Amino acid sequence: MLRWILTIIGIALYIWWMRRRKKKAEKGEKKDAFSKMEMRTVRECKKCKKTRTRKFKRGDYVFKDDKKCKCGQKTIITGIYTVKVKTKKELKWEKEFKKWQY
Ligand SMILES: [Zn+2]
Repeated sequence: MLRWILTIIGIALYIWWMRRRKKKAEKGEKKDAFSKMEMRTVRECKKCKKTRTRKFKRGDYVFKDDKKCKCGQKTIITGIYTVKVKTKKELKWEKEFKKWQY
């Protein structure tokens, strides 16, 4: 009799644990989707050819004039690209990985 009770409790715990894990995974995915990508704008100076990147702003497009460079010449946007922003989970993993590297 005791064996049966233990088995039932075991199964119940297993189901509860699986459900919790599924819920957590769903929550995590939703959060990640929001902070996954970030747009960046590359601007280049016509004179000294220095390139700088900054956050993408609305209205940015390639070959658009941008802020002045330190040398006084106007810069133009030469590229717009997206980067994957690391999620908290990934950063944590990276930290763990670095620990083991040395
Ligand atoms: Zn310049």
